[in-house]
Amino acid sequence: EVVVSAYANPSEREAEVSVRPKRLEEFIAQHRVRDQLDLLLKGALGRGAPPDHILLSGPPGLGKTTLANIVAAELGVGIRTTSGPVIERSGDLAAILTSLSEGDVLFIDEIHRIARPAEELLYSAMEDFRVDVVVGKGPGATAIPLDVEPFTLVGATTRSGLLTGPMRDRFGFVAHLDFYDPADLESLIRRSAGIFGIPITDDGAAEIARRSRGTPRIANRLLRRVRDFAEVRADGVITHGVAKAALKVYDVDDLGLDRLDKAVVAALVTSFRGGPVGLSTLAVAVGEQPDTVEEVCEPFLVRAGLLARTPRGRVATEAAWRHLGKTPPGPILP
Ligand code: ADP
Repeated sequence: EVVVSAYANPSEREAEVSVRPKRLEEFIAQHRVRDQLDLLLKGALGRGAPPDHILLSGPPGLGKTTLANIVAAELGVGIRTTSGPVIERSGDLAAILTSLSEGDVLFIDEIHRIARPAEELLYSAMEDFRVDVVVGKGPGATAIPLDVEPFTLVGATTRSGLLTGPMRDRFGFVAHLDFYDPADLESLIRRSAGIFGIPITDDGAAEIARRSRGTPRIANRLLRRVRDFAEVRADGVITHGVAKAALKVYDVDDLGLDRLDKAVVAALVTSFRGGPVGLSTLAVAVGEQPDTVEEVCEPFLVRAGLLARTPRGRVATEAAWRHLGKTPPGPILP
């Protein structure tokens, strides 16, 4: 089983898994997605057949992997986890598909990065629960049809726009996860603190929540860092003051922008005088892939009101100038 890790090290991963909600009712916020999934899963359970294939899209750390595991738990079935980039050959995928037990969930993270031949194999598996495995090469090649047990595919992608049409059409259920409100992250932090046994005040949780970039993974990570600070430099309790002092040490800014967010805002305002500037030029200026800037960074900057996408390129908003302590040179577009 291949698991692609988004974690700095194994203990971070363990800490993350230990607070991961196991059932739908524990999953915080995203009420619409939760409600729709609840119906989908209960409907399937009632009929005794696997539900439609599920596509989850949204920026990293918002709960796609968590939901895939919840789907399996709610259905009472097993889950296999893999990711698009590691499935290079269609044979790799055929091996996984033919080893599934009836009703299992197959979770494919970063499904938009799956290689084309494997993608085509996946179509027939999703639709007809069978795959044709080609043996041999040239004129002597033969396709051997193999049955696949009925299964549910849960695909996750940071960019649903990159999925091919035929792929997207094969998902009967499509949901988009959006950034979380500070109030929701506050509940999430209180829940995690409860699990870890960390004493925290409401305004301590609120301060961490406000600066977590709308992202559960970041909220949990900041909670662990602030806990270190509280234990080493204070009396172990995370109060508002302790949270503020700790986040200062870790260089988390007021809006919770991360290193790349800050670099993009600084480049937009300083190097490009507020823009407009094209995505690839901006990406080169911050030394990142355009994809990363577009998928990981921009959705949050747009949501935070710091960046606008215009037909002529990316533009810094007035708030972006003010965030850097600068005055915009003149009237700002949008
Ligand atoms: P993704 O797959 O979208 O990158 P994950 O599912 O790995 O994100 O979520 C990252 C972590 O954030 C999880 O381990 C989980 O602890 C936490 N998390 C995400 N969404 C929620 C939620 N709605 N409620 C509680 N915890 C969540």
